Amino acid sequence: MNKQTVVVLGAGYAGLKTVKQLQKKNADLEIILVNKNDYHYESTQLHEVAAGTEPSTKICFNIKDVINESKVTFIQDTVTKIDRDAQVVTLESDKTLNYDYLVVALGFVSETFGIPGVDDFSYPLVNITTAEIARKHLEATLANYQKSQDVRDLSVVVCGAGFTSIEYLGEITNRLPKLAQELNFPEDKVSITCIEAMPTLLPMFSEKLGTYGINVLKKRGVEFKVGTPIKEIKEGAVVYEENGELKEIEANSIIWTTGVKGSPVIGESGFEERRGRVMVESDLTVKDYPNVFMIGDVSAVMDEASGRPFPTTAQIALKQGEYVADAIVAKVNQQSVAPFTFKPLGTVASIGNNAGIGNVLGKEVKGYIGSVMKKNIINKSLLEVGNTKMLMKKGRFDYYH
Ligand code: FAD
Ligand code: NAD
Repeated sequence: MNKQTVVVLGAGYAGLKTVKQLQKKNADLEIILVNKNDYHYESTQLHEVAAGTEPSTKICFNIKDVINESKVTFIQDTVTKIDRDAQVVTLESDKTLNYDYLVVALGFVSETFGIPGVDDFSYPLVNITTAEIARKHLEATLANYQKSQDVRDLSVVVCGAGFTSIEYLGEITNRLPKLAQELNFPEDKVSITCIEAMPTLLPMFSEKLGTYGINVLKKRGVEFKVGTPIKEIKEGAVVYEENGELKEIEANSIIWTTGVKGSPVIGESGFEERRGRVMVESDLTVKDYPNVFMIGDVSAVMDEASGRPFPTTAQIALKQGEYVADAIVAKVNQQSVAPFTFKPLGTVASIGNNAGIGNVLGKEVKGYIGSVMKKNIINKSLLEVGNTKMLMKKGRFDYYH
């Protein structure tokens, strides 16, 4: 019998973990991995690149350095369409790939909610390119103040107060004193405002822990506006609603972190989706297509405890990747597959390099211990999708920084 072909789309946490686990299994399969870049990036650290506290090289590594090319064929290309009835994937180069099993792990893009001006005048943090653009824009704008004397050049607005926003604010407030010296702008004239639609900040944490995290940022000069949904982004201004009235904050650096949705390829390929995410079956396959797995940020897995899908995280993406590789090998061997189960280990959000807040295995952590936990999590995932060499090169061991 011919070897069965497994095609994995995307080399983020979910896709790369699938491939690494499949490699380990030594199954008689043809494995093809497709990714638009020749590198993997740790999406969980994009805020560092956007704030300029780490170079992009710190959070990227070459895919070929961590896969076994005698077992996996890597194709650098962009997926444009999936035809699940014909079992064919089309790539931007017009090349097509046939598969017996498909793993869709194409990740996330920025969610704009159709708010006018977002695409034109604000900067999202969703991949290496956008994070680099955001960093360069911020640096150029702050540097321009000396020439322009325009206070908008010293005004930064971060839209939304989710984890991405909090982590970005942590980095940028850490970097500001040095940046002011390097680029010669008055640090005391810089204003950083975070605008959140919901009435409560960090509602996923206890009030005490959330308040602690927010106070760290407030002490570093961040002003928070809550219960103030953003309605429009203009060139140089953010329009938000407060007590039924539209107001504006002027700013030449507007960072867009109001959430994410799954890859547009999902909707464009005709999958039944909501915000680019497909509600998957208990074995992470797509309804009526037992050979098509959907994992990572393009999937929605119901959390029976809360009655809502689990939040999209690297943590669940890694578990899904591991599960799917095992499930494919079981299916090929005509063995039964147990349903996917997931028990979150907790969440830690960094606030710059030396502080963090979170829940780990049911225990609250904050401050320095929070940052140590965060670094351990980064190191663990580098081992999972990379290898020991990558951990030694890119890991976080500056615990006493
Ligand atoms: P991704 O990691 O986005 O990978 C998708 C891959 O597919 C990428 O390599 C991309 O280049 C490729 N790709 C996309 N489209 C195409 C295409 N059309 N053709 C070919 N290739 C394509 N989660 C946590 O658990 N802990 C954290 O601390 C954490 N921090 C975060 C911080 C930030 C700033 C952000 C933005 C997210 C964070 N998350 C965190 C969430 C986490 O990053 C995502 O849930 C996770 O990356 C999802 O993994 P994925 O493999 O589905 O997608
Ligand atoms: P998010 O959806 O978690 O947060 C977005 C925030 O923006 C929300 O608080 C939302 O109320 C707010 N918002 C939405 N529309 C708005 C508007 N019009 N005006 C003002 N505020 C608005 O998105 P995220 O922070 O980008 O995170 C994306 C995913 O990645 C989540 O699942 C998150 O859990 C995960 N993540 C995890 C970590 C971590 O574990 N440390 C870090 C970053 C991201």
